Amino acid sequence: MNEQEMKRVDGTAWDVVVVGGGAAGLSAALTLGRVRRSVLVLDAGEPRNAPAVGVGAHGILGREGISPLELLRLGREEVAAYGVRVVSGRVAQVHRDGEEFSVVTEDWQRVRARRVLVTTGLVDELPDVPGLAARWGRDVLHCVYCHGWEVRDRAIGVLGSFHQALLFRQLSTDVTLFLHEATELTEEQWEQLAGLGVGVVEGRVGGLVVDEEQDRLTGVRLVSGVAVPVEELVVTPRFVARAGFLDGLGLTVREHPMGMGEQVVVDGSGFTGVGGVWAAGNVSDVMAGVPQAMAAGVGAAAAINMNLLMTDADRAAVSRTAVPGTDVFGGVTEAEMPRRVLGVRVHGLDGLVDGG
Ligand SMILES: Cc1cc2nc3c(=O)[nH]c(=O)nc-3n(C[C@H](O)[C@H](O)[C@H](O)COP(=O)(O)OP(=O)(O)OC[C@H]3O[C@@H](n4cnc5c(N)ncnc54)[C@H](O)[C@@H]3O)c2cc1C
Repeated sequence: MNEQEMKRVDGTAWDVVVVGGGAAGLSAALTLGRVRRSVLVLDAGEPRNAPAVGVGAHGILGREGISPLELLRLGREEVAAYGVRVVSGRVAQVHRDGEEFSVVTEDWQRVRARRVLVTTGLVDELPDVPGLAARWGRDVLHCVYCHGWEVRDRAIGVLGSFHQALLFRQLSTDVTLFLHEATELTEEQWEQLAGLGVGVVEGRVGGLVVDEEQDRLTGVRLVSGVAVPVEELVVTPRFVARAGFLDGLGLTVREHPMGMGEQVVVDGSGFTGVGGVWAAGNVSDVMAGVPQAMAAGVGAAAAINMNLLMTDADRAAVSRTAVPGTDVFGGVTEAEMPRRVLGVRVHGLDGLVDGG
């Protein structure tokens, strides 16, 4: 990364440095760019849904089925039109430095920011089954709303989750629940699955069966050696916010209320409770899909903009009253001046023109 790419021409701090240029980060940058904020997006270029490039991103109105990488390419193009700078790089640390922040990349480039927005996404911690990670995002899936339609009517295995079995049963009559390491089902759950025609296989899963020639999943193998044919496997990863590198900043990371993983704690606007730092997207909402991540980015951007506006308005007021001879240029006097001169209570050039 070139240091010059990250610096503002006039040497001042960026209004906002966005750490992470996925759906949340770029949506925030678009909103901020459009109100003339100076914005730098630093992005490591590994969006969470990149493995699904062959399947497409779904549930995105107006862009249904678009490649996840194409969506971000378009986003980068759109934000650039409003003067936002997007630079490839991985942020290693963020420190508070007086009223600003110092944002440091892995290759020790440093940049100054008035506000920081964290949109670094999450890490999907996959079940520890040999060969499973290699098929993630292709025929190993997790989200019925993302890819359920694409696997409808196929032979679907579900690893250890009763609720995932119910969800995917909506899309296929051929669903098998592998209990694997799940806690024992209740009597009621056994009855429900039987009623819905969902097969249940007891015992630990030891690996996947893959047709290497055709590059596709064909089954699940139990540690006992028995192989059960399936074409897709649904798993439930643990979702972990990618925020460890911000340890020194004092963000609070908490377990998701439904036990899905852990996320950065924010209020409704994305504010983290740490002055000057907001977060949006999967890093603070592990259940968010692309549209929710975009919406959170826009919300955080609006909150940051208002926060900067208020800070600058306060400063402007203080700098006026701090000037020696304040009584001449104070707010009350300035409001009074045009009235005295022009006979109307107007401010500034527009008023002079209007009143002229
Ligand atoms: C296989 C799969 C398929 C999916 N399919 C769909 C779908 O069809 N529809 C849907 O709505 N959702 C889908 N999702 C969910 C979707 O991926 C997320 O909702 C979305 O990516 C969240 O956006 P985000 O901006 O929060 O995070 P991300 O898109 O993950 O973006 C985070 C960005 O921050 C960067 N980053 C991380 N750390 C740093 C750092 N230290 N410095 C700089 N940059 C950093 C990353 O490289 C990345 O570019 C899918 C998820 C998976 C795993």
